[in-house]
Amino acid sequence: MKKAINSSKMKTVNRRIVLECIRREHISRADIAEKTHLTRPSITIIVEELLNEGLLRESRSESNEVGRHPVLLSIEEDARFIVGIALKRNACHVGIVNLGGKLLRERVIEYSNDLTDCLDRIAVAARAMLREMAINSNRVLGIGISAPGPLNAREGVILNPPKFDLWHNVPIAKELSDRIGYKAYLEHDADSIALEEKYFGKMSNETDFVVIVSENGVGASLVLNDRLFFGKHGRTGEAGHLSIRYDGPRCACGNHGCFEMYATPECLLKGSSFKNVAELMSAAGSEEADRLIQKEAEYFTLLINNYINLTGITRVVIRGDLAINSKPLVDRINKNLCDRRLSSGEFCLASELSCTARTAAMNVFRGFFL
Ligand SMILES: [Zn+2]
Repeated sequence: MKKAINSSKMKTVNRRIVLECIRREHISRADIAEKTHLTRPSITIIVEELLNEGLLRESRSESNEVGRHPVLLSIEEDARFIVGIALKRNACHVGIVNLGGKLLRERVIEYSNDLTDCLDRIAVAARAMLREMAINSNRVLGIGISAPGPLNAREGVILNPPKFDLWHNVPIAKELSDRIGYKAYLEHDADSIALEEKYFGKMSNETDFVVIVSENGVGASLVLNDRLFFGKHGRTGEAGHLSIRYDGPRCACGNHGCFEMYATPECLLKGSSFKNVAELMSAAGSEEADRLIQKEAEYFTLLINNYINLTGITRVVIRGDLAINSKPLVDRINKNLCDRRLSSGEFCLASELSCTARTAAMNVFRGFFL
C-alpha cells in the first residue's frame, strides 16, 4: 500500500529538490519555482534556510538586458564534506569529497591479513585527512562505503562476495562508523557507480538507464525514474547471471549459460595474443582483434537488448576494465542494437571513470541532494 507523506518529510524532500536544482546549474529563485513547481513563498523559506546554513552562495548574473540582473544561487561546495571509502578487491580507497563532487584527497590502503588492522588503518587515514584539511565534525555529512556484493545495504553488512574472504559477514558500516565517528552508509559498488554516473557522469540527463560494470565478474545497477531500483530483497543487478544460452554450461548460481561465463574480460582474452583489454582495443582492425570484439559485442547486445525490452531504458553505460579504450566495442554494440531495433541512436556508452573514494561518497550525496 502506498504511504502518505507527512509534512516534515515533505519539507525534507522539497529541500532536497531545491538543492538538486541549484546543484545542476546556477539559477535564480524564480527559475527554481518554474522548474520545481514549488510556490515562490516556499522557495523563499527553503533558500533562506540553506543560506543561513552556509550551503549556498549568491551572485549577480551577467545578463545583458538593461536593468535585469537576477540573483543566482549556487552550491557552496566546501560547506560540507563526505568521507568516501571504496572497498575494492585489491585495496581500499579512502578520500574526502566536497559538495561539488570533487575528490579533494585520497589515499590507497593496502590490505593485510588481519581484519582489525585493516579497519584501523582505514579509519586512521580518514581521520588524518579530515584533520589535515581542518574539517570540523559539524561539516561532515557522513561516510559512504562501497563494496562488492552480495551485501546487506540496510544493515550495513558485507555478506560473502567471492574473492573477498577477509570481509565476509563484517558489519562494515558500524565498524567504520565507530572508528571514524560519523554515520556510515553501505552500498553495492555497482549502485554507487550508477549514482556517480547520474550525478557527475554521462547519465546526468537520463532518468532511466543501466550501468554494467565489467571486471572479474559482471554486475549492474538499474536506475528507473531517477531512482536506483531495488527488488523486495535488495539487489536487482545480477546482470552476470542473466542467461544468454539456455543450453550453456551450468553456472555456480544454478542457471545455465550465464553472461558472466562468456563475456568477462578474462573470458574475452582467454587463448588470444592480447594481455589486456586496452591492448585488444588498440589492435582493432586486425583480424584477431575484430573477431574478438565482434563476439564480445554480440554478448553485450543480447544482454542490453534484454534490458531494453524489459524496462524500456534508453541508455546503457559500461564501466570497469572493459570500458577502457572501448570505442570499437561500443560502436559495434550500438550498430547491432540499431540493426535489431530498426532505430538509430547511441544506446550504449562507455565511461572510463574508475571506482574511487568519490564513487563511495555518492551514497551520502544521494541523501543530501535528490
Ligand atoms: Zn550464473
